[in-house]
Amino acid sequence: MSDECESGGCLCGTIKYEFDKSNLISSHHCHCLDCQKSTGSGKATILMLPTQAIVMKGELKFHTTPTASGRNMSRGFCGECGSPVLSFINEMPEVKFVKAGSLDDSSWLKIDSNFYSSSAHPWSPIDEDILSFTHNPEPVQEN
Ligand SMILES: [Zn+2]
Ligand SMILES: [Zn+2]
Repeated sequence: MSDECESGGCLCGTIKYEFDKSNLISSHHCHCLDCQKSTGSGKATILMLPTQAIVMKGELKFHTTPTASGRNMSRGFCGECGSPVLSFINEMPEVKFVKAGSLDDSSWLKIDSNFYSSSAHPWSPIDEDILSFTHNPEPVQEN
């Protein structure tokens, strides 16, 4: 891959991935309650990428939950260490949402917008400097 190649993975190293960052579609903070539960923090920060742009090494486990709009969100994590790594909507397998905290180097990343500002907490406030959506903008999906 080129020098645009970014890498990441889980805490224990069982799961690794690479992608060329020229493929990045957009990036978001999601403050929805499911993201809070699944990350154990105030929000999930996600990078939307074409599925075909991501090269995976290792087998993720997935947990699937229905979304507010009636689709099914599958969140992938390492079966060894439990780190959340990426997620996707079953009905939209052509894009995936990589967790920003799993990147080896995230210093280059700029976040485009906030999702679900309506469920953000004072202890993990939304970024006021970027676009904000109270829920989920269409046609962009929950992560
Ligand atoms: Zn792991
Ligand atoms: Zn969310």
